[in-house]
Amino acid sequence: MLKEIIIASANSAKVREFSALLSPVVGRIVPMGEMDPVPELEEKGASFRENALGKARTVLGASGLPTLADDSGLEVQALHGRPGVYSARYAGSEATDDDNIRKLLDELEGVENRAARFVCCLALVYPDGREIVVEGVCEGVIAEEPKGEGGFGYDPVFMIPELGKTMAQISPGDKNSISHRGRASRAMIMYLNGHKTRA
Ligand code: IMP
Repeated sequence: MLKEIIIASANSAKVREFSALLSPVVGRIVPMGEMDPVPELEEKGASFRENALGKARTVLGASGLPTLADDSGLEVQALHGRPGVYSARYAGSEATDDDNIRKLLDELEGVENRAARFVCCLALVYPDGREIVVEGVCEGVIAEEPKGEGGFGYDPVFMIPELGKTMAQISPGDKNSISHRGRASRAMIMYLNGHKTRA
């Protein structure tokens, strides 16, 4: 059990998901937004791993507390893995979720292969220099049109074939049980519990 960790993310939807996922192994989860000043995070890396580790190290440097950071995104097969690390700013630096979804649907217009996956890389870094990095993946297909009101980001167009529903049409609990973030969190929990097995 970890007494207290900082979550290095300004995304309140992600903080909510991590708080639910990690509550069994962490006493108190402190969102980065509670720090004063709130650290500025950069995502300049070429991989989810590089970005997650970079963010975690930055916030550890400012807080001195064990810090968890994630970097996640959508990889679309027909787009050779794009938008990948650029998922949040796919349609531009000020893009909204709707802008990004619209751009994705435009790029995939008439494309038959709609296979995609969400990837989440999770890094936990400690003041003593230990660093743990795990990854979770969720496979799906990009729908023709957005459906559902839940979740965030690309959830309304990320269809889970086994459920016949988009990620935005299922409950937060169901999302956590199948999502890339859920899988990465369970891998992290197993690691923390001493089992180096995959989730
Ligand atoms: P970052 O990890 O904060 O760089 O942002 C990753 C971006 O990937 C988000 O802004 C979303 O566009 C997308 N993304 C990551 N996880 C999810 C998810 O669970 N659902 C939908 N979109 C996601």
